[in-house]
Formats: sequence, structure tokens, C-alpha cells
Amino acid sequence: MPPKKYNIASIPADGIGIEVVAATIDVIEHLVKTLKTFEIEFTHFPWGTAYYKKTGEYLPDDALDVLRKFDACLFGAVGAPDVPDHISLWGLLLALRGPLQLYANVRPVRMFPGTRPRLADCKPSDIDWVLVRENSEGEYAGQGGRSHLHQPWETATEVAIFTRVGIERIMRFAFETARSRPRKFLTVVTKSNSMRNGMVLWDEIAREVARDFPDVTWDKMLVDAMTVRMVCKPASLDTIVGTNLHMDILSDLAAALAGSIGVAPSSNLDPTRRSPSIFEPVHGSAFDITGKGIANPVATIWSAGEMLRWIGEASAADVLMDALEQVCRNGVLTPDLGGTADTKSVAAAVSAEIEKIV
Ligand code: ATP
Ligand code: MG
Repeated sequence: MPPKKYNIASIPADGIGIEVVAATIDVIEHLVKTLKTFEIEFTHFPWGTAYYKKTGEYLPDDALDVLRKFDACLFGAVGAPDVPDHISLWGLLLALRGPLQLYANVRPVRMFPGTRPRLADCKPSDIDWVLVRENSEGEYAGQGGRSHLHQPWETATEVAIFTRVGIERIMRFAFETARSRPRKFLTVVTKSNSMRNGMVLWDEIAREVARDFPDVTWDKMLVDAMTVRMVCKPASLDTIVGTNLHMDILSDLAAALAGSIGVAPSSNLDPTRRSPSIFEPVHGSAFDITGKGIANPVATIWSAGEMLRWIGEASAADVLMDALEQVCRNGVLTPDLGGTADTKSVAAAVSAEIEKIV
């Protein structure tokens, strides 16, 4: 039988996204060539701010139909200094996450070898978390509007939408994630003291879903207190679930506590597997370092590792992660981690390490 072949869409988009996706594809192609157990074909899409400036749109009309034919998508970063962030974000990434119903955004956080802890008394083993972010509704539902423009009584509403279906599916996914990890422990983050509708529904559904997971221990935190717990008692946490806005903020804090945003991966998953899932670094397009060749590719390589796991190539993902960790342990680090290596030399070192492992 010929080896299984996967079709992956690549959307590097903007800024350092283009650099880290190119470096990651080199590594993945090297991994595939070395393992010889499956094949991957990358198809590149030029969607991003340059495309927007040419066509007036971030995505062509048939983008969703085109992407649905792929097994998964590797994404870089979107955003440019001369386009307002809400236009670029809604034009590309949010325009895909919503219609593809990629409702679970999963962000593993741990301290990578070679990264120094930000907290003086924090051991590397203290931070080993999986953050699960509701990715399809809530505060980023895009509902609301503005009236009385430019009047002193101008009003803007930003309406958070929470549905039973939306909360229940992310809660179930979070309990399942917690169950799959050794500690089987979930923390549910809300703000149900001051927000008395949607957040109370979150609390109620957490209690309901928990009944189906008697083997998972769980607790509940208000988001403000959660920031303190992440800093002061990091080892008390394992899997964490919360709303779109809350986990957007907490995952940046988590990435900073673990060392650098340059090593933070994320997966936008459709757990029903009807749509291709999208894998991307947590960081943005970072125009301050674009073109310098020094962007850290670790977050994107790790995201590609999560992608391999998701499409069913877990042992290839293990090889990739072992190689990545060894390279960091060897001190081949980009400047954000205190090193002097550039993007390409980190990628080349990972490829060389893969050959040693296989
Ligand atoms: P966004 O608007 O999407 O948040 P951004 O362009 O503001 O994107 P961030 O991802 O928020 O960039 O990153 C903030 C800063 O962290 C960047 O300006 C850059 O200096 C640094 N940074 C981000 N990603 C990396 C990386 N992969 N390697 C090195 N430094 C990075
Ligand atoms: Mg930013």
C-alpha cells in the first residue's frame, strides 16, 4: 500500500508569519523525508494584507470551499501596521474560525528547555498547562453597534453571545482534555459575580457536564483571581477552560510566564472533524522584527507538531517535539530567548536533530 498522503493548506499571511511558516514547512518536509512513513503536500495561499491591498478583500469568495478540501491548515499571522487590527483580524482569521466552526482553541503551555522562568521561585515543572479557549462566540461574537456617531452621547454596544450549545460543547471538550492528562484536573474560569447572565450559564453548564466526568476533579475561578493564581500558585493548575475574551488574555499571560510568546503554539480545532482545523503560533505578525530573520520559529514548529498529532501522525509529532526540545536544550536560541541564532538556523538545527533521532 502506498504511504498515506495528507494535503495541508498553508496561509503564512503577514510579517514574521511568512518567515516562521517557511521555516516550519522546511522542517516538516525534512521530517517526512526522513521518516518515509507518510507524505504531506503543502498548498500555499497568498491571503494576507498584500492580497487585501490588491483585491480589497482578505479572502476570495470561495476560500471556505477551497479550504474544506484540505486535511488541515498551517497559518502564520495576520496584521500590518497600516491596516487597523480589527479589519485584518476579522478579514482573515476570524472569517475562517467562525464559519469553519473551529470552536476549540487549544493552547498548551510549558516551559521549554532553554527558556528562563519569569518567576524567581518557579520550577520548570510548575507550568504544564493546557488552556482551552471557547473560539466561536462570547465576547467576540461581533454583535453590537454604534449610534449617535461623534455626538457627546455616542453609544457603542459590544454584545457577548453565549449559547447552551456553544458552552456545552467547549465544556465537554475541556473535560475530555483534562481526562486525557495525568492529573485529570480542570479549572473553569468565569466572571459570574459581576456578569449575571452568560457567566452564570457557564457555571451551571460546568456543573451539569461535570456529572458525566466523575473521574475528573474540577474547580471554578473568577478570571481576576485566576491571574493571581497563575502567578502565585502555577503548580496548582493543569487544564483551564474559559471564554473567548478571558482565555485570550490569560493565554498571553501564560505564554509570558512560560518564557516567551515566541514559543507558544495554538490549535483551532473542529472536534467534530467536519472542517479542517487550523494550527498557528499564538504570536502576531510582529512588524518590529519582520525582515530581520530573527523570529523564533519554535511556536510554529510546535503548532505543526500539534497538527501532526491531530491528523493521526502522533509518532512523527513525538520525533518532531523531541528534536525541537533538544535544539533548545543545546542553546540554539533566537534573541527573544537570549540567544543569537536566526530563524533559519533554528529550523536547520531541528532538521539535523530529527536525523539523529530517527
Ligand atoms: P498582534 O497584533 O496579533 O498581537 P503583534 O504584531 O503585536 O501582533 P505580538 O505577537 O503581540 O505581535 O508580539 C509582541 C512582540 O513580541 C512583537 O512585537 C515581537 O517583538 C515579539 N515577538 C512576537 N513573536 C515573536 C517571535 N516568534 N519571535 C521573536 N519575537 C516575537
Ligand atoms: Mg500584540
